[in-house]
Amino acid sequence: MENFLEIQRYINFTEQDVAILKRLAPIMQPHLPKMAERFYSEIPKHPEAFKVFREPEQIDRLRRSLQRWGTELFTGVYDEKYVQQRYQIGHIHVQIHLPQKYVISAMALVREYFHQVINQEIDDAPFRMQANISMDKILDIDLNLMCEAYFSTSMQALREINQQLEEANRRLHEASEVKSEFLARTSHELRTPLSSILGFIRLVVDGVCQTREEEMDLLNDAFQAAEHLLSIVNDLLDVARIEAGKLEMQPRPFEVRPILRQVFALTTLQAEQKSVQLKDGTDPIKLPRVWGDPERFKQVLINIIGNAVKFTDHGQVMVSTRLDDGYLQFEVKDTGIGIAKEKQAELFEKFKQVDTSLTRRYGGSGLGLVISKHLVERMGGKIELHSEGLGFGTTVTFTIPIHPKYLDS
Ligand code: ADP
Repeated sequence: MENFLEIQRYINFTEQDVAILKRLAPIMQPHLPKMAERFYSEIPKHPEAFKVFREPEQIDRLRRSLQRWGTELFTGVYDEKYVQQRYQIGHIHVQIHLPQKYVISAMALVREYFHQVINQEIDDAPFRMQANISMDKILDIDLNLMCEAYFSTSMQALREINQQLEEANRRLHEASEVKSEFLARTSHELRTPLSSILGFIRLVVDGVCQTREEEMDLLNDAFQAAEHLLSIVNDLLDVARIEAGKLEMQPRPFEVRPILRQVFALTTLQAEQKSVQLKDGTDPIKLPRVWGDPERFKQVLINIIGNAVKFTDHGQVMVSTRLDDGYLQFEVKDTGIGIAKEKQAELFEKFKQVDTSLTRRYGGSGLGLVISKHLVERMGGKIELHSEGLGFGTTVTFTIPIHPKYLDS
């Protein structure tokens, strides 16, 4: 309202203008339908406005609101409600994307038309002059209010877009930082096994070894380092595929047991080397057929059991299963180093690792959990990690849907 009073002051809108506009009401009223026509005549000249007002019901609504607007010009009551109604018109213009230049040129036409009516209907020269002036003033006030609403709504929309852009920018910046850090870390991870491979082979090539056995040992070390390198590269390729939405799955019904056996065979050696007991707590009879991509399922299992063995220096890793409402749930529970509570949520985020120094000690790309989460979810399951904190071991559970046929029987 403060603003409205200021506009009135600038335009020098006085009590006298109010009285004159009230007197004009009965004179102008019969001409309002024609005024609406004037407004329409302006529409086709503005393709953007024409786009908005093409539907018959839109034109009908415009006709009614224009007549209401015209009537209100002469009520003599220019209060808070009046101001709000004008603002409302401005807001609607923004909502329907009506260009402001259309509103301004249509107002000019209305102004011209109202002057014609006044000149033709009023004989009393001093009143006629005053009527023209007061009419100009109220139209100026209206245009002012509508434009102001238009700009404030546009400004608000711009501010919101700006905020969204800033937020997107911040996230991009963050993502780019995380990726740079990841790149640096991954380069290190790739370089370590690569240097080992080169070092071992160099020793063999230089003929440092005394016996064939020594040579075989070095080549064996080189082979293991190469396998480690390959697994990191494979993880990187998987993440790149996930990022690009191009990781393919071939879901089908399959038996869990043979895969479990293969994974145990792969990880037992690693466990035995560190005197960690890898225990199979699954009940062979109670393992139903499940639905998913068996190769990807095996990848998840290798990763989760592999992690449990990797991060456990003594004690045991227990793998068990249970049926859970249409799903088969796997639990991999270890007595290893555990994970601090505050770090647990981050682990499934892309490119994030718990603690670089620890990871360096144990090796790994830090991508296994991210990939596993994606794979489990793509197969319709859920993965969760839980640890009571550093030193308290870790439990990872994940589910895979049971094959529907098995459920029916
Ligand atoms: P990677 O093992 O290759 O580093 P993962 O994504 O599989 O990558 O694991 C991410 C991190 O989560 C690991 O670096 C480790 O810090 C932590 N982590 C995962 N599993 C365990 C576990 N069983 N015990 C302790 N820490 C774990």
